[in-house]
Amino acid sequence: MAKKWVYLFDELDQVTSYVGGDWENVRGLLGGKGAGLADMTKLGLPVPPGFTVTTEACNSYHAGMKFPEQIWEQELAALNEVEARTGKEFGDGKNPLLVSCRSGAKFSMPGMMDTVLNIGLNGDTVKGMIEATGDPRFVYDSYRRLIQMFGSVVVGLPTEPFEEVIAEFRKARGVKSDTELTADDWKAVIERFSNIFQRYSHICFPADPYEQLRLATEAVFKSWNGKRAVDYRNAAKIPHDLGTAVNIQTMVFGNMGKDSATGVAMTRNATTGERKLEGDYLIDAQGEDVVAGIRTTYPVEQMAQTMPSAWNQFAETAVRLEQHYRDMQDVEFTVERGALWMLQTRSGKRTAQAAVRIAVDMAGEGLITREEAVMRVTPEQVDFFLHPQFNPSSKRTAKSEGKLLATGLNVSPGAAVGMVAFKADLAESWAKNEGKKVIMVRPETKPDDVHGMLAAEGILTSRGGRTSHAALVARQFGKPAVVGVAALDIDIGRHLMTVGDQLIREGEWISVDGSTGEVFLGQVETMVPDISDPWLMKLLQWADDFRVLGVWANADYPHDAKRAREYGASGIGLCRTEHMFFQAERLPMVQKLIMTNEPTERREALDALLPFQREDFVGLFEAMDGLPVIIRLIDPPLHEFLPGFEQLMRELTDSKIRLLNARNLQEIDELLRKIEEDEHILRSVETLRESNPMLGLRGVRLGIIMPELTQMQVRAIFEAACHCAKQGVDVHPEIMIPLTAHVNELIAQRKTLETVATAVMEEHAITIDYKFGTMIEVPRAALTADEIAEHAEFFSFGTNDLTQTTYGISRDDAEKGFLIDYIQLGILPENPFVSIDDKGVAKLMKMAVELGRKTRPDLEVGICGEHGGDPKSIAVCHNLGLNYVSCSPFRVPIARLAAAQVALKERSKDSRQTG
Ligand code: PEP
Ligand code: MG
Repeated sequence: MAKKWVYLFDELDQVTSYVGGDWENVRGLLGGKGAGLADMTKLGLPVPPGFTVTTEACNSYHAGMKFPEQIWEQELAALNEVEARTGKEFGDGKNPLLVSCRSGAKFSMPGMMDTVLNIGLNGDTVKGMIEATGDPRFVYDSYRRLIQMFGSVVVGLPTEPFEEVIAEFRKARGVKSDTELTADDWKAVIERFSNIFQRYSHICFPADPYEQLRLATEAVFKSWNGKRAVDYRNAAKIPHDLGTAVNIQTMVFGNMGKDSATGVAMTRNATTGERKLEGDYLIDAQGEDVVAGIRTTYPVEQMAQTMPSAWNQFAETAVRLEQHYRDMQDVEFTVERGALWMLQTRSGKRTAQAAVRIAVDMAGEGLITREEAVMRVTPEQVDFFLHPQFNPSSKRTAKSEGKLLATGLNVSPGAAVGMVAFKADLAESWAKNEGKKVIMVRPETKPDDVHGMLAAEGILTSRGGRTSHAALVARQFGKPAVVGVAALDIDIGRHLMTVGDQLIREGEWISVDGSTGEVFLGQVETMVPDISDPWLMKLLQWADDFRVLGVWANADYPHDAKRAREYGASGIGLCRTEHMFFQAERLPMVQKLIMTNEPTERREALDALLPFQREDFVGLFEAMDGLPVIIRLIDPPLHEFLPGFEQLMRELTDSKIRLLNARNLQEIDELLRKIEEDEHILRSVETLRESNPMLGLRGVRLGIIMPELTQMQVRAIFEAACHCAKQGVDVHPEIMIPLTAHVNELIAQRKTLETVATAVMEEHAITIDYKFGTMIEVPRAALTADEIAEHAEFFSFGTNDLTQTTYGISRDDAEKGFLIDYIQLGILPENPFVSIDDKGVAKLMKMAVELGRKTRPDLEVGICGEHGGDPKSIAVCHNLGLNYVSCSPFRVPIARLAAAQVALKERSKDSRQTG
């Protein structure tokens, strides 16, 4: 049997059996529009008769670049059927059938491909139509539309000459809208249109309806490879080999007078998700008038007054479609002389809020299950609730006005608008003292910039990657941030920055989109979604019922811990204690501790730090009452607590020059004191300077070389825990050693720790139940996890360092350089600092889990690297059998959803296998 290229709308069963029963494949063959029309026909809904030329036909056309005869023959046969169903004849002078010809790919590509309406009109059929309708104005209007559309879509003529003619007629008649032009006007317009057609294309407008149809079909095929369509597919990641189907359908007319109309509607509100038909319609108009925005439309519910019977039928149809598809539908319809016709149905695009509400409501209505509701919302949609966003239309306007300055790494989502401040002190003082909104802009940030970052609305840096200081701090505090914007040239000394020719001075407004990495000049309008949205809360509760993975949070301060708990975290997976050292009043003590060789001075510094640390931990334990709190002992290289070498050298030189020009003794004294102090610091900095600080004296190595530091931290933890326990707080401290590579490191630290812990518990006459464990951040730790687990009750994967040390790529430098090129060149499929490298890093993790649990079956294993908040990595962690993922508080809701989705996917895979 010859291959079937064309299916009538009522041949859905044949299509289904041809593609093997799967609805996705039906959509693949008939396109989304064709599948919807066939499905609505099967449901018995009023669909104008027609047929679909398949995507296979389109692909076959492109393979040979000509119209296979078989396809055309099958189109003619289908057209005969349509004639029989409508009782009209194509090209007939008395009772002519008119058809539309529309593209329709598997995935919606709005406005990217072409449509021709009113095919079948010519000098003869126009007469027949006038007789049949008694409405010459309508018929001439339809005919001029055909010439115009055919001209632009099929022949590629410019639209302006046609529009100019219409504008000329409107002016001559002194009317504002096209509907006010008369039959004679349109007749005259047709004359002019035919001339334009001939002048520009050097051919006459084809009078033969069959020729019109054939050329229109071919034009739709061709439009699949038009530049617009190809660009759209590249952007939307739609494969280029799918092809488009072509839908040929009997025309119905919404422009046949006051009892006719055309409109588009969503079965629920696409912005809020409210269960209410929402849309626009126009009386006495054709479809394109509604979308083109040339006439003011009316809210669709007004049809209840203007055409109640069509409205009732439409409202019922909308409910039926939702029930059939079990999703919100986006529909197009026409009312022709009181009769409703459905022209399209597809799943409707919606905002994040609407997606959540619709999923939850539909589960409540029994239309879908709770599992389906949880699967329908994407982690990105949940993310939307957590940060202010730019108003999409304001962003579009800013782009069209050329205000997009540059794009960098989107490291911390959300929208921020503020005035550029290049220094942390200035950012803080503008924000705190003058109430200004500020964006802190730096080449890169350092720990002593944190106060400025906290005061700022958002952060922008020209250097740094996804795990740079700026990115980590921004994510931790939920500050929108874009980093590594290489196009940005910052001149802090002159208080300005440039992007190409554009110069931006300190104090000028910019807008930073941490969700996309875009940076705009000026103020782009923002809107603030709401995390306490009741539908989101419910959806996340359902997610919690399905997930297997625990979701914990990385939090260093009590207020972060409180937020994490509000967002649903069931533990603290990482408290980076060194962040507490960076606070302004503590830094001098830390510096003293580092720079002295005197045991008593060191003791003094540690004694001074102890109460601060204890206070921090008390806050954390209180906030997490009843839940585990993992506290990691100090990790970063010590030089991070001291000023930079280059900066110190500059300051020293500066002081020495000033000394030469000093005017009085007091000034000389002050400068000499400063020089002595700076030289002392410089010596320490030089001593601590390492070529590869990331691989140097940091992590557990510090605790071993400087055991007093570990002792102080452990004492602070246990004093806080004892204090809290006495107050009735249910404390569960877990003490974590960073960067362990050899089991002996752990054995040494455990000994130090246990001595202090026992002493403090004895002093307080109370026993605290605690755990001792380690981070797994270097390959050797993973490879020897069986040994390590003998001394560790828990593991936490530090995948930032584990990725760095597995790949041998510096996490601080890579993202501003070759790593991005690697991704663009396709050498790496994705950034391993964003999603766990499942072939390499995940293999080490797997080995560590297996070896660790072999030694200690109840070993608690989690992850606290940045990957802990990334949905893809969360799936990897689920599959590896981890106990929990830990991420920044702002990512906790996303992680709850992602953990549920991977558990549900596994469940449905298991049930398919057993079923
Ligand atoms: C890690 O390396 O993944 C980690 C959590 O530690 P840090 O980022 O503090 O080095
Ligand atoms: Mg680390």
